[in-house]
Amino acid sequence: RVKEKWAATRIKHPATGLALQNFDSTYSVQLGPLWPSVRAALLSERKYGALLNNYGHDDVQAELQAKGCKDFPSDIETEAEPCLEQEPAVAGEEESSHVSVNKSDLDAQQLPALQLSPNIKCLVFPRGDITRFKPARPDMFGYLGYYLMDAASVLPCLALNVQEGHNVLDLCAAPGGKTLALLQTKSIGFFGVNDASVSRTTRLRKVLHSYVPKPLLSDEKLRITTFDGTKWGEIEKNTFDRVLVDVPCTTDRHSLMEDDNNIFSKNRTGERRRLPQLQLDLLLAGIEAACPGGEILYSTCTLSQIQNLSVVEQAIHTAREDHGIQLQVVDLRPLTHMFRKTFDFAPDLPLGEMVVPHLAANFGPIYMCKLRRLT
Ligand code: SAM
Repeated sequence: RVKEKWAATRIKHPATGLALQNFDSTYSVQLGPLWPSVRAALLSERKYGALLNNYGHDDVQAELQAKGCKDFPSDIETEAEPCLEQEPAVAGEEESSHVSVNKSDLDAQQLPALQLSPNIKCLVFPRGDITRFKPARPDMFGYLGYYLMDAASVLPCLALNVQEGHNVLDLCAAPGGKTLALLQTKSIGFFGVNDASVSRTTRLRKVLHSYVPKPLLSDEKLRITTFDGTKWGEIEKNTFDRVLVDVPCTTDRHSLMEDDNNIFSKNRTGERRRLPQLQLDLLLAGIEAACPGGEILYSTCTLSQIQNLSVVEQAIHTAREDHGIQLQVVDLRPLTHMFRKTFDFAPDLPLGEMVVPHLAANFGPIYMCKLRRLT
């Protein structure tokens, strides 16, 4: 039996407890009656997805399917219904029309079509099945067959809709789950992969080398940098067709589970309070880095409205006022409709979409909002 710590040395306010207090006070208001079930899921074991490595040589997909998994992006025949083309909402005052839509009332026929990145495969066990994946094995060339990650983290990569020859920037890329998912499209022309943290970038490099053949990671195809992403607008403006801005956030699930280096610990209070400004600066830099007509995907793994919706609203406003950049919000409801059997989505968000954890589908939280540069 492990002896409990002496009362004198035990931490009075563990960071995980502070995180829970914070979430209880903010999310009970923000999510209302949904919060108790989301809370229970957040405090329970999370569910993973296996991002399939298209560069591997073993038939891992067949192996996992034999165990009962399904590739959620493609296995939607019973979920998807035909969609009609519809113009996305334009950012600005017109957003209010988006705000007033009650998504649950929407008919599948009214949803706009949305193109998703092809070739991204992610296997998950069915709803309610909490079987764990075994760690991936290397094939005869040493490449791993799959990468375990929150399956909801694949959604921003799908929604980015990378097409043949696109120049793509992943502004906050480490440890590299989404970078790897984007590489699975096999469509990227040039890939800028950046993260301000040197140690995390080293990890990202190792991840990429365990999954992707060396020639595809050559300097002409892929560049790994460790710049402060907020300065990207000063370095490389109007360049990329697609930009992923997967910002640092309060990482809600992690903050409830791990006391070490927790963003809710007292010595990180300042850093936590500065997060929304950092997120805004990163999103604005991502918007500047995109070319006119290019698309930007903002994502977080928090439920916090201040780090999600408010950041996007402020970025749309500042991009227009300070940089003369007009943005359009791309409607992601077709995506939530398509994957509604795999994930639980927050109902009626005014801007963007959010996977909320549920005990039977314990993925997320993942918030995402897609913007298109008009100018
Ligand atoms: N996209 C990653 C993935 O899927 O594996 C996860 C990214 S994590 C949510 C946020 C990342 O932002 C961290 O790795 C952190 O080092 C990085 N970061 C923090 N501040 C940054 C900055 N100013 N510029 C660029 N990256 C930053």
